[in-house]
Amino acid sequence: MTEKQEKLQKVNNEILELLDYFHENFDEEMPIIQRDLKSISNQVIELIGKEIKKKNMINQISSKETKLRRELTKIYAEIDQKAWDEERWHCWSCGKSQSLTHSHACSRGQNKELMLDKDNIFLQCIECHEAWENRIWNKIVNFKNLKEMLFYVLKHNDKQFWELIDGITIFYERELNSIKESLNINPE
Ligand SMILES: [Zn+2]
Repeated sequence: MTEKQEKLQKVNNEILELLDYFHENFDEEMPIIQRDLKSISNQVIELIGKEIKKKNMINQISSKETKLRRELTKIYAEIDQKAWDEERWHCWSCGKSQSLTHSHACSRGQNKELMLDKDNIFLQCIECHEAWENRIWNKIVNFKNLKEMLFYVLKHNDKQFWELIDGITIFYERELNSIKESLNINPE
């Protein structure tokens, strides 16, 4: 029982005691107070029930997440081993071999069902990882493995794919305009 449940239980016991007291001492004379107390008591009982339900739900979610995290750690280890064996132990986007981490082409938040798909996971350095997560286009367009990442997204999440293509297109349009400006050509 949580602290909150214990407190609620205590409040409820006090109300029930009061109800008994009124019942024994006043009986018919205080029906309104009795009714009110009974209604408060019922509300408290309902609250206790909600608390228990909430606690159970939290427990269920956290055990599911623990399992998922454990599976993901296992998959990361397999990917790392394979990358090491194939001499690809570096950032697949920029080639750096420091501060390596794992990135999901289709983001974990939006694509829960793809979280454990090995093909969705790419070895990246922390800078490239953050560039991908935060859609920092000037870095993303230089990814050596951009095509592979985009291809995976195309196969699994149409909406996300076109968001990426839009972002990249807008980035290049801006680049082009700034070149035109520097050459004194009117941008379109
Ligand atoms: Zn990198």
